[in-house]
Amino acid sequence: MTDQLSEENRLEALCRSLGNLWSKDDVIDVTEGISEEKLKKCRLTLFGKLYSRPNVNFQAFPNTMKRAWNTKNVSCTIIETGFFSFSFKSEADKRKVLDNGPWSFSSNLLVLQQCDLDVPEMCYDFTHCPFWVHLYGLPFGRVTKEVVKEIAAKVGEVIEVKLETKGNTTYKVGKARVNLKLDAPLKTGVVINLGSKKLWIEFKYEQLPHYCYSCGRIGHYATVCKEIPYETTRLEEDLPGNFGNWLCVEVRELSPYGKVFYGKQAALLEDPNIVPESPLAAGTSANQHVRNANEQPLLLLQSQQCQKETTKQKAESIHTSLAITSKEGKST
Ligand SMILES: [Zn+2]
Repeated sequence: MTDQLSEENRLEALCRSLGNLWSKDDVIDVTEGISEEKLKKCRLTLFGKLYSRPNVNFQAFPNTMKRAWNTKNVSCTIIETGFFSFSFKSEADKRKVLDNGPWSFSSNLLVLQQCDLDVPEMCYDFTHCPFWVHLYGLPFGRVTKEVVKEIAAKVGEVIEVKLETKGNTTYKVGKARVNLKLDAPLKTGVVINLGSKKLWIEFKYEQLPHYCYSCGRIGHYATVCKEIPYETTRLEEDLPGNFGNWLCVEVRELSPYGKVFYGKQAALLEDPNIVPESPLAAGTSANQHVRNANEQPLLLLQSQQCQKETTKQKAESIHTSLAITSKEGKST
């Protein structure tokens, strides 16, 4: 009903926009049925868009994808620069490609969408892409499908949850397939509250394409980041940035935030001006951390947005002994 209302609204807007050009005679009822062959073709077709760099070597692209997908039974057609259709010969091959994504060509993310009979090509949504996200640091005793789903929901809409055996033990680790919003910074982790203690859980992504170590977004490198000029980053001095390769599942090490939380890394407070006098005074710069009265590692990742918090809001967040936000603002 909502879609119908929205369609009616759009039609009304269209009529207003067309004005005198609008005529009821311009509506054509399409009554012809859809052939079985056409239906099958749609079912076996995926549309794909290269997320960051549309210009690729079209000679190499289809062959590279066929090798990656381990099938020859797919034909690739270029619709426009960076926008392709892939016609598979079998549902199994298509399913395998959809289930084992995300895929990249030269570290350039290829976002895939199922062909829909009644959707025009300009209406496919390539703003989201499913990624497998591992929860690094979730204690084995807490690994259940429900807990994994609840935590992974902080990254995006959860499509599927899997518990996998770790090595030759009976312990299981959790991962979730999550529909990631591509223009948002990658989420690095969350804190879980177990009642008696709190733990920092890190997110690690499977098949992560290149992404910006400054703003945390997929699709560009830090050297060309429009949000955070490269000259203002620590990366130029070969120092760790806000993001790093530790978001990739292959890198089995803690992020700098995890290292700080678990007491494996000292604070990187090089500028005395950014050392907070007290937790209440915190909020003057990015990536600060302090220890609480119980000497329990406590991480405060302050974003510029966080810096604008009122004193009351700060006090509330300190009261909960935790204030973590993603760094969305520009580096200072
Ligand atoms: Zn960036």
